[in-house]
Amino acid sequence: MPDSASAQAECVIDLDAIAHNVRTLCNYASGAAVMAVVKADGYNHGALPVAVTALSAGAREIGVATITEALRLRMAGIRAPILCWLNAIDSDYTAAIDADIEIGVSSSRQLQAIGAAAQAAGKMATVSVKVDTGLHRNGASLQEYPRLLDALQRLVRQRIIHFRGVFSHLASADTPSDPLNDLQRQRFLDAISVAKTHGLHPEIAHLANSAATLTRSDLHFDMVRPGIAVYGLAPVAGDFPLIPAMTLQARVTLVKKIAAGEGVSYGHDWVAPRDTAVALLPVGYADGLPRALGGKFEVTIGGSRYTGVGRVCMDQVVVDLGADGSNIQEGDTAVFFGSGWHGECGAQDWADSLGTIHYEVVAGPRGRVSRHYIGGETASRVSEHKRQSTDAP
Ligand SMILES: *Cc1c(COP(=O)(O)O)cnc(C)c1O
Repeated sequence: MPDSASAQAECVIDLDAIAHNVRTLCNYASGAAVMAVVKADGYNHGALPVAVTALSAGAREIGVATITEALRLRMAGIRAPILCWLNAIDSDYTAAIDADIEIGVSSSRQLQAIGAAAQAAGKMATVSVKVDTGLHRNGASLQEYPRLLDALQRLVRQRIIHFRGVFSHLASADTPSDPLNDLQRQRFLDAISVAKTHGLHPEIAHLANSAATLTRSDLHFDMVRPGIAVYGLAPVAGDFPLIPAMTLQARVTLVKKIAAGEGVSYGHDWVAPRDTAVALLPVGYADGLPRALGGKFEVTIGGSRYTGVGRVCMDQVVVDLGADGSNIQEGDTAVFFGSGWHGECGAQDWADSLGTIHYEVVAGPRGRVSRHYIGGETASRVSEHKRQSTDAP
């Protein structure tokens, strides 16, 4: 995402909200450490500023999917433990080992590759074993797990690998009462016991995502791994003291009058039912405003809501201001979604209209949308951090 000051559309990221959410999650974790998950560029909020903010607000570790994501944070000066868990047999383990990245391992073949890289590098690799307790996505299957532990035990004895922990991921934590959570908990406990019978005593065990952090203290173990809640969005129904950190907004490009009966945008899907004024906003589907939202979203300008009309185009979209135009002027700011504190929609409103989840909504803004950070002290800490890490040799 470009950081262009001239951009007409921007994602404003409130780092004070991130800090608040992390402190809140530390409270919910009650004793368990917090790993802030910043994969996918911090759920599209910016992995580095989020990581810096989360660590200074109490998070102990950082979680990402890929080695590339982990390396970027390490190179930018993040010194806290970083775990990456979506690895392949040919991932760049040498780079990960060099940069002290903890590697999540899901198969014996991956472990073999990590062991070979560690030997070549002449440096021990730190790994945590990811076990599949029922999600059936990543993680070692129950058949694979004992084989993986055998191989791991050998590599640990040979001092090629440092074994740090065991972790797993939940399939239905957003339904806290789903018995699958209990089954996964039991299988996780069994997996820890089996590791111990292989002489492998985990320093740390972790299972909980945001939903389980907020609702199931029996799943917290030694550390929790919240992602979406760090960004202020709750993955479960309920009243949680979280603050959404992302606001998507754009400046009004043009205001014009339309006569009753005139159509607006491609195909004239919307025809003005009365004489009205419309505002043009410079955000389209290439910027992550889904075309499927045509006619199904509202923006807030100057504290009032206005409905999007006609098709969402590649670069732009139109909203109806009503007969009097409400005194809205070119250059005014239109908010698509935000914290909801000023009457604007939330990411959840878009998710409802689109039949998706707010995770996908915040991951959406891209292209010409610039990113801008607010959050007083924390924002200056981020730039300070950036300066220090570029100054470093
Ligand atoms: C993405 C992810 C998380 C965070 O999930 P949220 O639902 O965003 O809290 C935690 N652990 C793993 C392994 C993940 O892939």
